[in-house]
Amino acid sequence: MLFIGIQLVKVCIMEIKEIFEKMEYGPAPESKELANKWFDSHDRQFNLYIDGKWVIPKDEKYFETINPSNKEVMAKIAEAGKEDVNAAVTAAKTALPHWIALGGHGRARYLYAISRQIQKNSRLFAVLESMDNGKPIRESRDIDIPLVARHFLAHAGWAQLIDDQLSEYEPLGVVGAIIPWNFPLLIFAWKVAPALAAGNTVVIKPAKLTSITAILFAEICETIGLPPGVFNLTTGSGSKTGSYIADHPDVAKITFTGSTEVGRILRRQIAGSGKKITLELGGKSPVIIFEDADLDSSIEGIVDAIWFNQGQVCCAGSRLLVQESVADKVIEKIKARIDTLRVGDPLDKAIDIGAVVDKQQWETIDRYVKIGEEEGGIKWQPSSKCPSDGYYYPPTLFTNVSSTSTIVIEEIFGPVLTAMSFRTPAEAVELANNSRYGLASSVWTENINLALDIAPKIKAGVVWINCHNLFDAAAGFGGYKESGFGREGGIEGIWDFLRPKWEAEFTNEPQKIPLNEVEDDQTDVSIPSIDKTAKMYIGGKQVRPDQGYSLTISNPQGKVVGEVGFGNRKDIRNAVEAAHKDKKWLFMKGHNRAQVIYYIAENIIYRADEFIQRIIDVTGCTKEFAKKEVNLSIKRIYYYAAMADKYDGGVHNTPFRNVTLAMKEPIGVMGICCPEEYPLLGFVSTVIPAITMGNRVIVIPSEKYPLLATDFYQVLETSDVPDGTINIVTGKRDELAKVLANHDDVDCIWYWGSKEMCKTIEYDAAENMKRTWLNYGKYRDWMKAKHSKGEEFLRKATEIKNIWVPYGE
Ligand code: NAP
Ligand code: MG
Repeated sequence: MLFIGIQLVKVCIMEIKEIFEKMEYGPAPESKELANKWFDSHDRQFNLYIDGKWVIPKDEKYFETINPSNKEVMAKIAEAGKEDVNAAVTAAKTALPHWIALGGHGRARYLYAISRQIQKNSRLFAVLESMDNGKPIRESRDIDIPLVARHFLAHAGWAQLIDDQLSEYEPLGVVGAIIPWNFPLLIFAWKVAPALAAGNTVVIKPAKLTSITAILFAEICETIGLPPGVFNLTTGSGSKTGSYIADHPDVAKITFTGSTEVGRILRRQIAGSGKKITLELGGKSPVIIFEDADLDSSIEGIVDAIWFNQGQVCCAGSRLLVQESVADKVIEKIKARIDTLRVGDPLDKAIDIGAVVDKQQWETIDRYVKIGEEEGGIKWQPSSKCPSDGYYYPPTLFTNVSSTSTIVIEEIFGPVLTAMSFRTPAEAVELANNSRYGLASSVWTENINLALDIAPKIKAGVVWINCHNLFDAAAGFGGYKESGFGREGGIEGIWDFLRPKWEAEFTNEPQKIPLNEVEDDQTDVSIPSIDKTAKMYIGGKQVRPDQGYSLTISNPQGKVVGEVGFGNRKDIRNAVEAAHKDKKWLFMKGHNRAQVIYYIAENIIYRADEFIQRIIDVTGCTKEFAKKEVNLSIKRIYYYAAMADKYDGGVHNTPFRNVTLAMKEPIGVMGICCPEEYPLLGFVSTVIPAITMGNRVIVIPSEKYPLLATDFYQVLETSDVPDGTINIVTGKRDELAKVLANHDDVDCIWYWGSKEMCKTIEYDAAENMKRTWLNYGKYRDWMKAKHSKGEEFLRKATEIKNIWVPYGE
């Protein structure tokens, strides 16, 4: 009997096992009822939310929004025209004083209330998001909406802390926000929460394809009684509504997430206006799998990296780089895994992949896939068909591709993964960095030494170790290179919505220096004699200018005090090349950089009398003033030497099994166009902070007073500064600045000069998305420490990389 019983159990277990293997998933649909009720209660038509009221757009235009999973029209949404945008900006501007006067705590209460309302309405938000965008309900319910609530809660915290911790800073004013369609409410929250916490008011334009949850958000603002005008919603198209927002003179900042192409348009559109801008742009992020990785976890990581949100993720891991020894195995495992991914109705809780956002996006993805095949790539897609009633695209893998394949280079923004192999860690890094983008990356290995060796070498704003696509309000998010600039999340995200209070003290004219009263002919012009043209300084060598010409330098009394090289395009190119060659400074530890910087100060102290005399000669200022300039320069160099090993990063307490290291990294190769005034202090106050954190620089000194900079290289030569760390090119400053702005291998430009030139630089720099820091024709007082020394300078010389490291349970 017992034997028969055991046999029966065995048979049953076999059958159950078989059933489990063969059984189809049943659908587990999330109800649309609540969402449909909400749509119907608005007669499926929505207006603009301006100054705390729902208003009909002036020209009464509306557009339709569809559900991409079934192509049904869900509602009509107002298209904001120019007058509507004007009204929204006016409302936001009017609301500002009251919103600021509320103080951090007052604003914290509103942000907390918003967070609670999002939690309370999370189900409706999640269903609407999935219906509007096509993303699986599992993702909108478990990721998008909880992260939105978390973001407002975290920023209620920032609002509360701002008065204590950032009392020397003030809000920018009216913030214009433009967002994409891939994470409609999440990216919306990334902009609205910090903007409001910092005391700004907002005019926002969601993507035309996905405006629904932004409308529900505006209703929440109404419910909690947010003061009118603090938050204004102007739905509509980018080319009209978005562009009107960017153009409006009362908008102080544009915060944009979207394609690099539109980011470039916006950067150029507002160039020279003095408006601040944050650009979160595209990506082509690598997933690097080493042979010692836990391969099964890595496969799940790849699913998260490229098939999350149908691959429509700016930081999607779209380039798989896998170590050759395990490449075949990994590819086979991916193929097997793809076959189990379920594509279908986004509201079905059991599906993995929903619909892409619209027909156009579907066609873009398909076009890239066809190009991939035409260029010889081998395509792999699952055997099962996608549903045909919506815009569904199957998860796709390409092998047999190379660094030159279009689909490896271009951001596809769809569920398409390209796979390549590498042999050594160095090759992996080279392939990973071989992209004009630098948004994110993930590294998969069980070897902590290897992971933490690779992380600093990858040029990307985020490095995930053994995970991908994790986000949190505590950690900054944003790109390097053409993935844009600025960060969202963390304190870095708050900095981007504030400005130093002392900027209000800047003047329209440079500071006047007290001139020497002595008669011209009594002035002791000591050095150099005319036949001695001061050379330029490139790659650690004194060099003659390429074209062999020189510029004569006179003092304010018109007396010739020397000659300098007339640098040109070629000299700048040589200087940029020399700066890139210098890896010594880049990898030098803070302690060693501090020593070198102290040494620079020491060598100036030795030659202080020479510098004082030279300042008197070239500027005609009083001895007392020249002394002050030299002393202040030395003091300032000491400050940055002190900071070289102290301006360090942080460790964020991000959820999940991680801590996140916020590492402050040098931007790379920087062009510095020094202020015209204060020949030594202007040079020191800009060049030294730039190099403190490991950047290499090309300096264009003051055009009027370049001789101090050329004296400076003698100091450099005796101060252990590596060759190529500081390169000095003299000549016509603005002509050289333009060359720098257009140079593809320059990562950042600082410029102090004319307003017109600021516009040119910002416009040209947009080509490779250089970071810029310019004065828009406003002058700070270089003698005043508050204006001209401090962490602000170091912040502008660094970018933060967030490295997510496994930690704890
Ligand atoms: P997009 O075409 O650049 O559009 C983004 C937003 O800009 C939309 O609201 C769009 O309006 C608007 N827009 C378009 N042209 C404009 C103009 N001339 N002036 C002002 N606004 C304009 O990008 P998308 O297709 O929506 O989103 C995909 C891109 O976003 C991808 O490249 C992706 O990598 C990037 N992205 C980046 C991040 C990040 O954090 N780095 C996050 C998500 C997405 P419409 O509604 O009319 O299109
Ligand atoms: Mg839609």
